[in-house]
Amino acid sequence: MAAKTFIQSLPKAELHLHLEGSVDPVTLAELSRRYNTPLPTENNRYDISGSGDVLTEEEVRRRYSYQDFNGFLMAFKTVTERLRAPEDYELITYRLMQKLRQQNVMHAEVYVSIGVVRWRGQQVEPLFEGMERGRERGHRDFGVSLLWIFDAVRHFGAEAAAEVFDLAARLRDRNVVAVGIGGDEARGPAEWFRDLYKKAMDNGLRLTAHAGETTGPESVWGALNIGAERIGHGLAAARDQELMEVMAQKQVPVELCITSNLRTGACTDLHDHPARKFFDQGLMITLNTDDPAMFQTSLNKEYELAQKEFEFTKDHLRELARNSFEASFLPVEKKLKFLSQIDFLV
Ligand SMILES: [Zn+2]
Repeated sequence: MAAKTFIQSLPKAELHLHLEGSVDPVTLAELSRRYNTPLPTENNRYDISGSGDVLTEEEVRRRYSYQDFNGFLMAFKTVTERLRAPEDYELITYRLMQKLRQQNVMHAEVYVSIGVVRWRGQQVEPLFEGMERGRERGHRDFGVSLLWIFDAVRHFGAEAAAEVFDLAARLRDRNVVAVGIGGDEARGPAEWFRDLYKKAMDNGLRLTAHAGETTGPESVWGALNIGAERIGHGLAAARDQELMEVMAQKQVPVELCITSNLRTGACTDLHDHPARKFFDQGLMITLNTDDPAMFQTSLNKEYELAQKEFEFTKDHLRELARNSFEASFLPVEKKLKFLSQIDFLV
């Protein structure tokens, strides 16, 4: 079987995927027409009654073709400004699940930037109802399983994160499985969130953290020290042999996002990316897209990249697909069900 066909046929899970970053140009242009969105106001909060700035599909594509990290942040903002009503969240969730199914991604754990939603002054619960409606329809129509991860913004501080984590705890029986911290690692050290992580764990939530994407290994140590069970990106661990050994020994899953790292400049050269090094040193790596629409990638493309550029064999790719289910926060019986589908693939 050709590599591409094999990758397509592999049942996969995706563990590092931002809902907002999955909004494709067609959908964003549609949302833009829905709202006749104004340009951002001075304090960066939108004026819901404003006018102007309807984005065409072409304009969205241009905004998604940025050159640096700041351009990426602006693109992210362009999306979040246009997510306002429960129906918007329902639409983007449903379309995301449709795209996942097309790549044989059977399970996804999806980050939602609840920290940003709150910062914009929006109420989370009504929007969450929209997400859940999208999830239910997506599950029914495409058979894809999806769980939510509520993400707080590190540099907004512990108080803002506490609100996000409390919401996650309240909605835990509605498919919110975990919490995380994203944003500026340098301006929001993991240590600030130690008590909150403990409380979230006591509330039955699982723990993730973006770490070692834009800063050094100390950020990954910090995330592990407060109890993060999975590390988002973790690139900087490659610069610390002891850290890699600890992660390998404890089998801490790393949510790698290769194309994302290249597009944001977190990694400037593909061949400097530690994907293969981590794998060879026995770390439990998974492949992910991060923000597929904004990085013009898909999970299949990430597997193809690993195969082409890092010489992962079919057996290796199968192992990565297995990792994606094993590292998920699914209950054991569901993990086994998905894993058995991989075992049958030749
Ligand atoms: Zn991310």
